[in-house]
Amino acid sequence: MSRRFLSIGECMVELSQAGDGLLRKGFAGDTFNTAWYARACLAADWSVDYFTALGDDAMSDEMAAFIDKAGIGTSLIRRIRGRTPGLYMINLKDGERSFSYWRDSSAARSLAADPDRLREAVESAEVVYFSGITLAILPHEDAETLLAEVRRAKAAGKLVVFDPNIRPRLWSSYDVMHTTISEGARSSVLVMPSFDDEAAHFGDDSIEATIHRYRALGAVHIVVKNGAEGVTLNFAGEQTFVPAEKVEKVVDTTSAGDSFNGAFLARYLEAGDASAAARFAAKVAARVVSEHGALVVREKLGLDGG
Ligand code: ADP
Repeated sequence: MSRRFLSIGECMVELSQAGDGLLRKGFAGDTFNTAWYARACLAADWSVDYFTALGDDAMSDEMAAFIDKAGIGTSLIRRIRGRTPGLYMINLKDGERSFSYWRDSSAARSLAADPDRLREAVESAEVVYFSGITLAILPHEDAETLLAEVRRAKAAGKLVVFDPNIRPRLWSSYDVMHTTISEGARSSVLVMPSFDDEAAHFGDDSIEATIHRYRALGAVHIVVKNGAEGVTLNFAGEQTFVPAEKVEKVVDTTSAGDSFNGAFLARYLEAGDASAAARFAAKVAARVVSEHGALVVREKLGLDGG
């Protein structure tokens, strides 16, 4: 039986500028991006599945077909009659990017509304990945359901991985955000935060402070990403630093953290060496920031060169 990596969250329709007022359609979302890079980097004896909810419209069908074509399993995806996927648009003005979102009533917000289905999916996986965005889009009760399931998975010895991915705009208040993200970390084995976000929203004055806070909550392993600097790993208390790769020209940092996470997990799951996994992930993320878009195809990731 193949080993299953399950990623839980929201994938959205992405519209980006294609010139002359034309818009190009794509699909992306933090947990999906991570699944994409995990799939690109994992060997074939692993299956990667995406857990979300979609509607029953043509766009939901197209997204499911896209996910499937990426080699990512869609059989666990819930379909909800009358609903549609969330949508976001990347606006470009004077070289600066900004984002507009239409996701308030997306089908993905109901991804945890069927607890039996969620439990079945989590039970079928060896690795369970989710993020602060996954928690932020759920109604309060459903976030509790998801947290209870991942806690169960952690207790059962599965590798539960959480990226806090802090987005204050998605939360009703700072209080709810702090409490729920902390609960996400407490329910996980490995937490993979970005230092920028943690400093801005939890007031951490150093990477040490971020590590200390998540360890105190009960996370066993922590990987703190710090952009062009590199990452600090704390695996069961043992700390190492892995620098980022030098990048000639940064083209688009979208999904840098998501790709790092996917590549890191793929290598860590296969070889069990966290520092080696971080060196590999830094190479993959460096390729990703050198290209446009969230999803860089496997051929451009330089995987065959090691
Ligand atoms: P996030 O996208 O979650 O904010 P980071 O900005 O910390 O995450 O980036 C994640 C990883 O991507 C880094 O650990 C690094 O490996 C790589 N990366 C990001 N920006 C750069 C850069 N300018 N040069 C080289 N690598 C980068």
